[in-house]
Amino acid sequence: MDSHRTETPREKLQDWLRYFGDLNLGDFYTDRRNMAKRYVRPLAASVPASPSAQPAASTAPVVPILAVANAPSLFEALDRVEGDTLERIRENLGECTRCRLHEQRHNIVFGAGNPRAELVFVGEGPGHDEDMQGLPFVGRAGKLLTQMIEAMGLQREDVYICNVVKCRPPENRKPEDDEVATCSPFLYRQLDVIAPKAIVCLGATAAQALLKTKDAISRYRGTWFDYRNTKLMVTYHPAYLLRNPAAKSEVWKDLQKVMTHLGLKPKKVSR
Ligand code: URA
Repeated sequence: MDSHRTETPREKLQDWLRYFGDLNLGDFYTDRRNMAKRYVRPLAASVPASPSAQPAASTAPVVPILAVANAPSLFEALDRVEGDTLERIRENLGECTRCRLHEQRHNIVFGAGNPRAELVFVGEGPGHDEDMQGLPFVGRAGKLLTQMIEAMGLQREDVYICNVVKCRPPENRKPEDDEVATCSPFLYRQLDVIAPKAIVCLGATAAQALLKTKDAISRYRGTWFDYRNTKLMVTYHPAYLLRNPAAKSEVWKDLQKVMTHLGLKPKKVSR
């Protein structure tokens, strides 16, 4: 869905259907062979056409309606894609032009790390270095994230790192709501496929996208949440820590909770 093009309603509909197809939501048309077993009498049948017509109540034919009642709703379908893989999600994402963020990007930053990771970090969106390299958290904030991961006794390769939006917002601005809404289904699928034991949201954008809230990060930082049966911790974004190093101790407390949950021992080095 390229919001800058003037599209006819037909083209818009085609774009949406293509997008839903890319999200693996399946077909939208009704399969009349599998219609739901719910029947009503057609309205016309209850109104006799002529005085000689049979009373509708006993003889009018019943017709099935609510043909999609047996199918999962759009949002249920969005919940899980059967047999999904990271490769398939990346393929579905393609050379994405669904929102305006594609216009200035150099590379899509899909995510990187262990596809079977017990721990996933979710950031906001790629910055300049990430956009140039096509990899998440490789700039200054990324170096700090690497230190945080190592302090937890892990390596970057042990975890999976991704972002809410996969293309760099110009001037590193916050992604807009519609950009988040368009891109986040791919993140949901990534998390479903990896099925980690814990998710760490780095900053408010990630937390708001996964917890569906608009509250300020101070409201929910440092406590556990449930995200589709996975424990989710929100902590400060490393870029915030670069500007406010004093907040590092808060982040370390949050990460220690994650370590306890994962049974990890901190690396024995001075921080
Ligand atoms: N900030 C983010 O949120 N993500 C990145 O990948 C890099 C910086």
